[in-house]
Amino acid sequence: MELKIITDQTFVREQNLSLALRRIYNEAPVSRAQLAAETGLNKSTVSSLVEELLERQLIHETGSNSKGAGRPATLLEINPQAGCIIGVDLGVDFVSVAVTDFPGNIFWRRTEKADPTEGQEKMIDQTLAIVREAMTAGKRKGYRILGLGLATPGTVDLDEGVLIFAPNLHWHNIPLRQKFSAQTGLKVFVENDANAAAVGEHLFGIARQSTDFIMVFAGVGIGGGFFLNGQLYRGKNGYAGEIGHSPIMAEPTQSPCHCGNRGCWETYANQYSIIQRIHARLEVKRTSLIPQMMAEQNAPLSIPLIKQAADAGDTEAIGSFAEAGLAMGRGLATLVNFLNPEKIIIGGPLSVAGSYMLPSILEAVNRHCLPEIGQKVSIELSQFGADSSLIGAIAIVVDDALSNPSHIERR
Ligand SMILES: [Zn+2]
Repeated sequence: MELKIITDQTFVREQNLSLALRRIYNEAPVSRAQLAAETGLNKSTVSSLVEELLERQLIHETGSNSKGAGRPATLLEINPQAGCIIGVDLGVDFVSVAVTDFPGNIFWRRTEKADPTEGQEKMIDQTLAIVREAMTAGKRKGYRILGLGLATPGTVDLDEGVLIFAPNLHWHNIPLRQKFSAQTGLKVFVENDANAAAVGEHLFGIARQSTDFIMVFAGVGIGGGFFLNGQLYRGKNGYAGEIGHSPIMAEPTQSPCHCGNRGCWETYANQYSIIQRIHARLEVKRTSLIPQMMAEQNAPLSIPLIKQAADAGDTEAIGSFAEAGLAMGRGLATLVNFLNPEKIIIGGPLSVAGSYMLPSILEAVNRHCLPEIGQKVSIELSQFGADSSLIGAIAIVVDDALSNPSHIERR
């Protein structure tokens, strides 16, 4: 019985520490009195929590609030040097690694091309080599490393940190957490790329004030992160959000998806679909700047190159983005009708062409949504663009630190 009371007290203390730290993270600079008023905790509890957060070097005092009558109050903010975070975005054809301080400012990063056909061992070794350099960059600044967040396409077993199935990588049952923690000694979090991106938007991006939004991560695939009632919705097994494989445009003649089915939404709206549209348009010998640009740059057809052509006014490039935008919007309309979100945020590698797709996305959403639902939703591009799941990988580590401040190793 006594043990239970101690456990409960420890639990309540951790909850309150987390509450205070989160408030300071989101609203700094704040005074102790403001924290007490906003959290409903009494002033002496707040003082004790703040002392512990100061002692753990997670926050620091900064100046004072001289507004109003009475004694100026000392203000608190997050200590940027509280620690650093390593974020990894294991894309289908690239790997990005970044290191940030505790508030999420990137001070080191690297992106390399990767080839999943060379096998998972090679791609994981390539990623580990970059992670080791990232750790050195963090340590050089004298920071403790709070953890490593890894965003990956596909379904993830969160408890075990195992990538269950990534259709576009053709990977099954990869124990990513075990592999990365054994090699780095770090606390490792593995999360689906779109879910990670949703956490990133809620912590750092344009959804800080939103309780109901959908993150759409678009690139080789299309993944969704559902943030509902103020929380990431994971589903029974953590696999919710595989929106790209919904058969909303199913036609038996459609070319197969990497998941093995036909008619999956993502095969109409992902980056390959745009490349295929360009090939089809060039085959009928329309005039386009694209073949000349490919020859000059000695580069294959890619989204950045098509975007460049669109910027130069190429009608085939602009038309292909618009067609994919209509297909994207048709899928989004289904989600909007289902879930009545406040916002849909589009991020990922395809979002670099977002400005060309957005008008047709909006056209399709307006056409296919029930008017009273469609008019309420705002569809926006992520400010993080292609980096939205990399920022999300960082956000899941920060979110854990904010939830469990006493688990952070003391220095
Ligand atoms: Zn599929």
